[in-house]
Amino acid sequence: MGNKKEEKAFQSDVKQVLDLVINSLYSNREIFLRELISNAADATDKLRFLALSNEDLYEGQSDEGIEIDGSEEQGTITIRDYGIGMTRKEITENLGTIARSGTKEFFQGLTGDQQKDSDLIGQFGVGFYSAFIVAKKVVVTSRKAGLELDEGIRWESDGVGEYSLETVRKKKRGTEIILYLKEDAKEFANLFRLKSICLQYSDHVSIPISMPKPEGATGYEVVNQGTAMWRKAKSELKAKDYKEFYKSLSSDSENPMKWVHTKAEGKLEYTSLFYIPSRAPFDLWDRNGKSGVKLFVKRVLIMEDSETLLPRYLRFVKGVIDTDDMPLNVSREILQENKKLETIRAASVKKILSMIESLAKTKGYPNFWETFGNVLKEGVVEDFENRDKISSLLRFSSTNDSNSLTSLKEYVSRMKDGQEDIYYVTADNLETALNSPHLESFRDKNIEVLLMHEPIDEWVVGHLPEFESKKVKSVLNADLKEEAKLDQSDKHDSPLNEEQKKEILSRLQASLGDLVADVAESHRLKDSLVCLVSSEEQMSPNLERVLKAAGQEVPVSKRILEVNLSHPLVTVISSVQSDDELKDWSTLLYEQSILSEGGKMGDPAGFVRKMNAMLMKANGADT
Ligand code: ADP
Repeated sequence: MGNKKEEKAFQSDVKQVLDLVINSLYSNREIFLRELISNAADATDKLRFLALSNEDLYEGQSDEGIEIDGSEEQGTITIRDYGIGMTRKEITENLGTIARSGTKEFFQGLTGDQQKDSDLIGQFGVGFYSAFIVAKKVVVTSRKAGLELDEGIRWESDGVGEYSLETVRKKKRGTEIILYLKEDAKEFANLFRLKSICLQYSDHVSIPISMPKPEGATGYEVVNQGTAMWRKAKSELKAKDYKEFYKSLSSDSENPMKWVHTKAEGKLEYTSLFYIPSRAPFDLWDRNGKSGVKLFVKRVLIMEDSETLLPRYLRFVKGVIDTDDMPLNVSREILQENKKLETIRAASVKKILSMIESLAKTKGYPNFWETFGNVLKEGVVEDFENRDKISSLLRFSSTNDSNSLTSLKEYVSRMKDGQEDIYYVTADNLETALNSPHLESFRDKNIEVLLMHEPIDEWVVGHLPEFESKKVKSVLNADLKEEAKLDQSDKHDSPLNEEQKKEILSRLQASLGDLVADVAESHRLKDSLVCLVSSEEQMSPNLERVLKAAGQEVPVSKRILEVNLSHPLVTVISSVQSDDELKDWSTLLYEQSILSEGGKMGDPAGFVRKMNAMLMKANGADT
């Protein structure tokens, strides 16, 4: 043991990331500094937090800032922090593997197109490995706060396949990173250049960053603002400040879509700054993924990425909440029940929803909706208190114009005289929704129908019984209101008399047996022959499909087969004498009703066989 150097190989994922980072981010090399400063600031924040309950971690030294130095002669850059530091195990895990969630998605998202990939990598946040964009060798020396001085650890690598580890003595806690610059990256060691990059990317980091004083003088001086940007008065801040801070907060290279900065005064004083990004992060669909809001109490970062700060359906929001009105000695667990924090959370949700409301009035809303709409929809289910507000932010396709989206409010404004309910159809894609036979009478009567075709819609609409006191109803509902029924005059004439109608319905019912709850005459079908409808309490077939696809047991629910008795084929079916032949017809009808709503038939091959047999028969072929 002791000081013997140990050689280790990078995990294969790391090699791949390193390769990509080095080759793809060439046009934007200076981001390495932002990434390393951001790690140093995080480490400092972590120490501050842990020291709240264990003052000893400061080891009697109060150095806190980040120091950056460059030497053109030696071709090196040094970044030093006095934060939490890393143990041997941590350094191996953090700098030798990739543990973060979303890595798989990241690799799947790569296209091989340089420009696109570099954008993707930027968005993913390249972290520590970005050091190798400019360095041919990186040496990290770290000691975890609270450990003995000779329990420091040195990590060294040329970023190719391996790294070495060695135990060393380190007087001060924290981490020092030395970059040995590549020949073509030596320019970055220039102090003037370093400072300008630092200010461009990290001016608003709330930890002071020091650099050597200009030539002639000795010692370090603080170069960044070092104060929390969000604490400044709004009047002092420009759009550029907000954008830069967003980038350092989120590692996103794109500007945010919108932000809201609030200083609440009075009983409870706090500041909040929330951003809506312009694009979705990788882990947007990981419900356990990170959200991006940080809570500072008296300038100490107490909590981040937590549902305690914002509900899951706002997980795309980035930002900070900052208050001096809470005790510092509260644990994260107790915080969850803190009344003040609850108040701040509720007010923050309202602020963010209002920000989205104002976005909804702009041309940018479709873009927002496309990016985050399906996440926001979760709020209808999860946030009862704000349901009305969230409902008014929803957008759906509709038969009014299937190329653009509509709000429920707009739908209501277009409702026909005498129309009482809001109608929707669910399907697993727009095409199926649009062509649903259930829409025929609605189309005929000029009643608009919302076309819900996202998997989540079913769940959402189940929690949206009404909007502006209009009931929200499925067109699949067996109980069709008079307003949506076909007028007698609009129907094709049925060649059957009442007697014959009754007879064919009951014969079909007998032939289908347990497969359906009933067979009934349809008042909604004009051109299609059959469709399935369900009672209001019944689970919709689309939801059934979604649940089945998710591997859940779904109770068998029988539905009603509606038959369009004006359809020419009905005459043909009525004349069928043999029960066997009628059986083929009835199953065929049932199966086509399932097919037209996008469902899966139990026996597709049987369906094809029956259909072909009938086609041959109809055309006089020998069977
Ligand atoms: P990220 O910062 O996004 O997690 P990085 O690759 O930049 O990814 O860093 C990986 C991990 O290494 C960090 O999460 C942190 O635990 C650790 N780390 C990196 N730099 C430092 C540092 N200066 N001090 C302490 N820990 C660090």
